[in-house]
Amino acid sequence: MAKVNDNYLKLPGSYLFSTVAKKAAAYTEANPDKEVIKMSIGDVTKPLAPAVIEAMHKAVDEMGTAEGFHGYGPEQGYDFLRNKIVEKDYAARGIDVKADEIFVSDGAKSDCGNIGDIFSVDNKVAVCDPVYPVYVDTNAMAGRAGDFTDGKWNNLVYMPCKEENGFMPQLPEEKVDIIYLCFPNNPIGVAATREQLKPWVEYAKKNDAVILYDSAYEAFITDPDVPHSIYEIEGAKEVAIEFRSFSKTAGFTGTRCAYTVVPHELKVDGVELNGLWNRRQCTKFNGVPYVIQRAAEAVYTDEGYKQTREAVAYYLENAKIIRESLTEAGFTVYGGVNAPYIWAKTPNGMKSWDFFDKLLEETGVVTTPGSGFGPSGEGYVRFTAFSTKENTIKAMEKIKAIL
Ligand code: PLP
Repeated sequence: MAKVNDNYLKLPGSYLFSTVAKKAAAYTEANPDKEVIKMSIGDVTKPLAPAVIEAMHKAVDEMGTAEGFHGYGPEQGYDFLRNKIVEKDYAARGIDVKADEIFVSDGAKSDCGNIGDIFSVDNKVAVCDPVYPVYVDTNAMAGRAGDFTDGKWNNLVYMPCKEENGFMPQLPEEKVDIIYLCFPNNPIGVAATREQLKPWVEYAKKNDAVILYDSAYEAFITDPDVPHSIYEIEGAKEVAIEFRSFSKTAGFTGTRCAYTVVPHELKVDGVELNGLWNRRQCTKFNGVPYVIQRAAEAVYTDEGYKQTREAVAYYLENAKIIRESLTEAGFTVYGGVNAPYIWAKTPNGMKSWDFFDKLLEETGVVTTPGSGFGPSGEGYVRFTAFSTKENTIKAMEKIKAIL
């Protein structure tokens, strides 16, 4: 008799964003005349940059010729893109990363989720709380998280990120083997400085642990003390895998391109993880389309860089509007300086979902309840800066009017 992976049966309810979407849809159905402003899921709203579109068009035309046609590409990505990544994202910052340490993929979500394939089920995993749900759920699916009771997985180590610790995780007291870190971070929108990251690299070295460093929001860093890569920290290549994405950097959420860096220096029990990830990708992944990789390459041209950074600046301006308006309305807010997320404390200690409902009912503004990202997110809602500027301003006016 066939058996399912019963770890899936342990997963609680539906995925956070589908619940948010269902509530928003129910509101629209009940209030067809009222406007809904979505400030929940972290999806971009600006179109792809002209330089990116031009490169895509060119690549599409190539695909229609006998000489320019591309079938299966290398599973790790084309050299033209891997070399550009090395040059612009790493060498330009004085970081030594080799092209064969870069694995181009269809998303940081897939990579963060799939990376667990190369680790034993016995590893002890630490996650921030609140956290991007993909790290938790994929470990649960793999059987690494234990059982879900009282809002927590009993085999995961939660590192609370709260007001009292400046929303920075503290080094775990018990020994852990795999640590997920994400800076600038989702959902809180804060970023760790070089000084704050150093102890994590030291911890990983001392405890033979691996850091899985999600840097999907790197393009939003404005503070010079915040590193753009974990490899800016000495010794990090021996202990860390880094995930990057073109989704938020260049509006590729619907175009799909990202990459993961697995340094050769990174060994677990004498085994190079680069080789294992390469084996995993070659077996389960057939590469990102040629047209998309050409589009990603265009992000690194002068024009492409300028245009995509303008979009990032636009979202950061929205973040500023949200921070300032909510503060004016009496909220305590965090994040939004090095990230497109603003973490707002609910008024009068309201529960996250209650405040989510209140905002939706009274203003039509859709946020994301903080508790959906983990127990320590209770009492907060997350706003994203990815709306249009007009909608951001409108949403803030509506919120100010009810408070
Ligand atoms: N990592 C974090 C922390 C995210 O917030 C997101 C998307 O919201 C992703 C990864 C997903 O990135 P991608 O679009 O490359 O799959």
